[in-house]
Amino acid sequence: DRPAAPPRSAPQRAMDKLGLRRDIDLALHLPLRYEDETRVVPIADLRDGTPAQVEGEVAEARIELRPRRQLVVRLRDDSGELVLRFLHFYPSHQKALVYGARVRARGEARDGFFGLEMVHPVFRTVDAHTPLATSLTPVYPTSAQLPQSYLRKAVSSALGRAPLHELLPPGTVPPGLPPLREALQWLHHPPPSASIAALEDRSHPAWQRLKFEELLAQQLSQRFAQRERAQLQAPVLASRPGGLHEQLLAALPFALTGAQRRVATEIAADLGAGRPMHRLLQGDVGSGKTVVAALAAAVAMDSGWQCALMAPTEILAEQHFRKLVQWLEPLGVGVAWLTGSRKGKARQAMVERVASGDARLVVGTHAVIQDDVHFARLGLAIVDEQHRFGVAQRLALRRKLGASDLEPHLLMMSATPIPRTLAMSYFADLDVSTLDELPPGRTPVLTKLIADGRRAEVVSRIDDELSRGRQVYWVCPLIEESEKLDLQNATETHARLSAALPGRLVGLLHGRMPAAEKAAVMALFTAGEMAVLVATTVIEVGVDVPNASLMVIEHAERFGLSQLHQLRGRVGRGAAASVCVLLYSAPLSPTAKDRLRAMAETNDGFEIARRDLEIRGPGEFMGARQSGDALLRFADLAEDAPLLQRAREAAAVLVERDADAARAHVARWLDSRADYLNA
Ligand code: ADP
Ligand code: MG
Repeated sequence: DRPAAPPRSAPQRAMDKLGLRRDIDLALHLPLRYEDETRVVPIADLRDGTPAQVEGEVAEARIELRPRRQLVVRLRDDSGELVLRFLHFYPSHQKALVYGARVRARGEARDGFFGLEMVHPVFRTVDAHTPLATSLTPVYPTSAQLPQSYLRKAVSSALGRAPLHELLPPGTVPPGLPPLREALQWLHHPPPSASIAALEDRSHPAWQRLKFEELLAQQLSQRFAQRERAQLQAPVLASRPGGLHEQLLAALPFALTGAQRRVATEIAADLGAGRPMHRLLQGDVGSGKTVVAALAAAVAMDSGWQCALMAPTEILAEQHFRKLVQWLEPLGVGVAWLTGSRKGKARQAMVERVASGDARLVVGTHAVIQDDVHFARLGLAIVDEQHRFGVAQRLALRRKLGASDLEPHLLMMSATPIPRTLAMSYFADLDVSTLDELPPGRTPVLTKLIADGRRAEVVSRIDDELSRGRQVYWVCPLIEESEKLDLQNATETHARLSAALPGRLVGLLHGRMPAAEKAAVMALFTAGEMAVLVATTVIEVGVDVPNASLMVIEHAERFGLSQLHQLRGRVGRGAAASVCVLLYSAPLSPTAKDRLRAMAETNDGFEIARRDLEIRGPGEFMGARQSGDALLRFADLAEDAPLLQRAREAAAVLVERDADAARAHVARWLDSRADYLNA
């Protein structure tokens, strides 16, 4: 029996949750912004709207009852007087803020009715010798259970302990950038003279050093992975005359686009080379990635190997499943289906068929990679929307080798394209194929921005569309009322649309529904029996219902640009002219305005990706970073392209000259994330 670990306090648990476990994690948890407690401003110099710290004596403290009970304190220094106003206060406030007490207060001064005042300033009592802060005070991203003051202390002491000694040989780091320890010291505790602007917009040399370190680690880890992979053997996969690949090509109801042919050739060359493929297939929504995947699968099966196709959601997996069944079953190939909702005997039977090699093509969600699933001969793994899978899941898929000691080929598919030059320099270890052409006969989607107040018009527009026999998506950003955001939830919208469209079947689809229920709703919509589908973003990727010609996205301002583009890709899949309505509520933030404008101006996924990189400010990046989706925490590919280039060059030199230093650097920076970047 092991002794129980000491119980963790609430703030400690909150730190765990934020991933702040090791000293280095804390050292790399950087401030969002800073407060200046290094100086005291004479009251007479206070400016309306500017945060500042003042110090003085309490000249009067009293409770006023009108317009509501509040504590009003007059603070006086040599230069003048200021009112501190507390609309909420405790006995401890009254006790501290007594006549004659010396008080240091910090807040934003506002022009009130009786002159300048601060509402709810941060304050403490001091004496004439209480020192001022010697550096700017960091304000960290945190959570409700983790007080700022606790986090500050934790970071500060971790910073002292963290192993941050220089690992890189001289000449590696671009000139003018400080050592890592110094850089972090500066970022957590900037001297009073530091430019807050340069710190906050991340242009300061301390920031540059941090970004360079991260980019270097990323480049190095990819070089290592590439070398390792070059040593591995993979099955040689090739189509054979009269085989499945040939039959599938002949049986397809359409001709491949030029881009599909080119990309298929690139993939076929990899599959036949005896080394594991590591290829990203990127193509705009609707560019026809599934058939390319099916052709690759056919090549694997022609050579007697199994193929697995994994998608992040059950809905998406099922779309693939249906397409593959439609194409392959007439050719005598059964497609196996493995998802979380399949349990018990049926699941056991399927697992056995996978283990015996009987199931040649397996489609599913992450259920495909559960521990009890073993492939007899896995030759090719295809992962759709790979960025949506966790690290562990992607790695597990690669390890499903079965009895063979050959590494399977890996094809990743993504509808979130990154600009090509960026892809090539960033993903040093990834070959990229791009579908840059849409199948013929698509009419570009017309995108309209409409203010929320004109909802009624939109509903009547839906009615028109339905009378023409078309179907409609209505997308909502959240399923339940969030405590902070006043968003209309999908359930409510569903009820309202049902009432507004009598005699039409309006369905509801959201993430919390049981899988079987989701599948049933999707089936009705796909079959054309359901007129309107109200959905949260579960339909974001992969859903293919060509008869749907109108999409309404509610609170479009809440969505990211690439997400909006993904959603819009659900319409315009048939021959009918399609419309995407972006409903927004004013006032829009400048970046939201830019996003919506970009959506209205272009349908091209690559152009959207470019603008997305341009528009996203550091603030909005935070969200993406914390969601774990972002590949980089500190560097920004749009802004830091020159730094990426330098990191790339430095990595090439370092692996040749000092592989030990290179490995030590990767270990420090990526730790478990190394797997992530290479998966
Ligand atoms: P995505 O790249 O978004 O995954 P899909 O593979 O779902 O796109 O393809 C979108 C639609 O286009 C599907 O209905 C598919 O059958 C069809 N399609 C794919 N390739 C072609 C083609 N060359 N010509 C016509 N239709 C095609
Ligand atoms: Mg797809």
